[in-house]
Amino acid sequence: MNFTPSLDEIRFARYTEPQNEISIVWFRDDLRLTDNEALAAAAGHGKVLGIYILEAPSLTGVRPLGGASKWWLHDSLKSLATQLSKHNIPLLLAHGDPRTLLPQITREAKAKYVSWSRRYSQPQRSIDEEVKTALRAQDAEAHSFDGHLLFEPWKISTNQGGAYKIFTPFSKKLKALIEESNERQHGISSNAQAALCGPGALLERSHAGIDGLGLLPSPSAAHWTGGLEKVWAPGEDGALKKLEQFIESRPAMSSQEGYAAGRDFPSLSATSGLSAHLRFGEVSPRYVWNAVSLSPMSPEDRRSFLNELMWRDFAWHRLYYRPDLATVNVRREFDMFDWLWDSEDSASWYAEGYFDPRHSPLSRNVEKRLGAEEASNFHMSLQAWRSGKTGIPLVDAGMRELWETGHMHNRIRMVVASFLTKNLGIHWRHGEEWFWETLVDADPASNAFNWQWAAGSGDDASPYFRIFNPISQAKRYDPVNAYIKSWVPEVGSAHYPKPIVDLKEARNAALEAYDEVKALRNQHKNL
Ligand code: FAD
Repeated sequence: MNFTPSLDEIRFARYTEPQNEISIVWFRDDLRLTDNEALAAAAGHGKVLGIYILEAPSLTGVRPLGGASKWWLHDSLKSLATQLSKHNIPLLLAHGDPRTLLPQITREAKAKYVSWSRRYSQPQRSIDEEVKTALRAQDAEAHSFDGHLLFEPWKISTNQGGAYKIFTPFSKKLKALIEESNERQHGISSNAQAALCGPGALLERSHAGIDGLGLLPSPSAAHWTGGLEKVWAPGEDGALKKLEQFIESRPAMSSQEGYAAGRDFPSLSATSGLSAHLRFGEVSPRYVWNAVSLSPMSPEDRRSFLNELMWRDFAWHRLYYRPDLATVNVRREFDMFDWLWDSEDSASWYAEGYFDPRHSPLSRNVEKRLGAEEASNFHMSLQAWRSGKTGIPLVDAGMRELWETGHMHNRIRMVVASFLTKNLGIHWRHGEEWFWETLVDADPASNAFNWQWAAGSGDDASPYFRIFNPISQAKRYDPVNAYIKSWVPEVGSAHYPKPIVDLKEARNAALEAYDEVKALRNQHKNL
């Protein structure tokens, strides 16, 4: 099967002959040409000019990207610019507030049509609304399209018309909707093409190049990205190649190594590695869904993979209805839980205005509550977890894989999250923030949703009392220590640290703390 992007695959079918006017595509989390309706629509309305605006957190309140995501975005924009230039479409880059920049550029370009793919978090949705109003006020058409999810959050509702909080019924509804819409689309020609032709002279005005966006670390810290460069190829080409490889390699694999059976074993390359490509929209989930559905993969592998893709939609569905998912416990009884939490350790975006600590019921300085010595233990534990030096091999392997490659296997993400929140008793937000900084696939919905899932405080979450034992998890999912050895070669030697916590004692303490919360909750209920 060939998944190389081609213009035939861009769906132009419903658009008429292009005019000579300039139309603008505002790229965000859709850094691709294939299956990009916003791009196709703009191409149908005139000569296309692409724009990417790196939103300044201090002006917009948008959460700044973490370091690994910035690295990814830098390379992905480079790749997008190259792909677009093949069609004579320039990509203009800017840094600031789209509410002022986009109307201004539209005026300067005398563009009459602006399009973009919709996004589903706050404050992004409000920003997009304001941009739309400003553009229409200056007589430009502004149109938004879907493309980041299989189905937009508001298009999936319970029989009572509400949001889903449980995955299984959500996924059933989603699957039914996809089948219905595939039937409806059957027969639409995908061959119609629009001429893509850039506006040439306009873009001779100077603008910051990709390096001017400041996405890469300073040269003194540049060693940090060496591991990422070895593993990843950001951009649409890389995404489509990865998808092709994933699909084509499956039939030759034994059933043990296939996706369904192998996806829990971190030393096997059983999963797709597509998460960061999906995060930045270098391939659309619909495209991935269709490619896998039509592939020669076994029915079990297909079913299992598509199920995971639906978890991604579910996380976005939840974030849409809970914009504070990254900061506030969904199940509010967890506000009473005695998590260790240090607001001063939290990342720099507090200073940049993304987060208002008044909204957190938990913002308190751990030193005030714990006293200096205990606070120092807390900081040491957090640091040991972040740097993969806890003395628990599976946890350390995962945390080192994360630091080195910007990625961590899903099973190990669950293990390290359980260890942080339950064995170490540290608030899930510290984990969410570290992942946000270090994951190349750090995603506003999936990261927050999965941290709350692992901590027990979220929707359809793993019950709190399900505490992963990292030793038995290693025996089961890394039986010959292949994964552990590859990341923690010194394990078993005198150079490897002693465990920072007794797993059994810590487990019992966590369960006791949970019992207290349950008792408090019941007291409140009875009041
Ligand atoms: P595959 O197994 O090949 O799955 C295919 C696709 O399905 C993935 O690319 C991803 O888009 C989606 N997917 C798979 N599992 C999940 C899941 N549990 N939730 C949502 N979508 C899923 N995923 C992110 O994309 N970004 C994150 O920031 C993120 N943070 C996480 C934090 C924690 C604590 C945990 C437990 C999981 C997190 N995940 C996150 C989910 C999952 O670990 C990754 O999506 C997966 O490991 C990516 O590898 P893959 O592309 O090879 O996945």
